Amino acid sequence: MIRIENLHKSYPMGNRSLHVLKGLNFNVEEGELVAIMGSSGSGKSTLLNILGMLDNYDEGSYTLGDVLIKKMDETKAAKYRNKFLGFVFQSFNLINYKNALENVVLPLYYQGVSRKEREEKALKYLDDVGLKEWANHLPTELSGGQKQRVAIARAMVGEPKVLLADEPTGALDSNTSKEVMDLIQKINKAGKTILVVTHEEDIAQMCSRIVRLKDGVIVEDKKIKQKKAL
Ligand code: ADP
Ligand code: MG
Repeated sequence: MIRIENLHKSYPMGNRSLHVLKGLNFNVEEGELVAIMGSSGSGKSTLLNILGMLDNYDEGSYTLGDVLIKKMDETKAAKYRNKFLGFVFQSFNLINYKNALENVVLPLYYQGVSRKEREEKALKYLDDVGLKEWANHLPTELSGGQKQRVAIARAMVGEPKVLLADEPTGALDSNTSKEVMDLIQKINKAGKTILVVTHEEDIAQMCSRIVRLKDGVIVEDKKIKQKKAL
């Protein structure tokens, strides 16, 4: 599903540059639940942003499905992102003046799905995350865990090939984190390929593979016996 070969990324720093990803190699098969671990500054978000087509890489190659992802104009990138990828962030990134249903509907709006179908689908995905009754509530009326479940419904509604989550439990207490990871495990069991960036060991143990980054290189990549979140 994902093929990364000799991936390099640097950020310009005045007249020098900061070499953040230093030749990464790894593949992710369909249906895997992969934790990307590493301490702060190790390059996790940089990698996830490249995988999510939110940023370009400098060298090497990235193939998603059967498409080689390389520098493309923003219109094309946005189209691919919408079609292939779902995103979940630590800070939820919900639109505060839109209710839960309207937030979940958004990706379908950009896909040009009809209004009726949009709302039906969004409601189904809200139901899947256990929040059908909360469809008309604003994010400010929801708990952190509920907000993250809305964000997960929004990430799933476009039926992406891959779900990318950057510290999805980073803003949640430990019980709520487990509930969110339980949901992520269920979505994975249903067949979705998922990558979760985390710096928490117990969250990583709930995945089926751990890729560990240190100073921009992969220092460990192992399959593990997955722990149940709940
Ligand atoms: P992590 O998510 O593992 O904490 P990041 O990928 O965010 O790490 O950052 C890796 C390194 O790259 C850090 O030293 C960070 O300061 C630097 N960095 C991240 N984004 C940028 C950017 N847009 N411009 C310059 N440096 C950046
Ligand atoms: Mg980060």
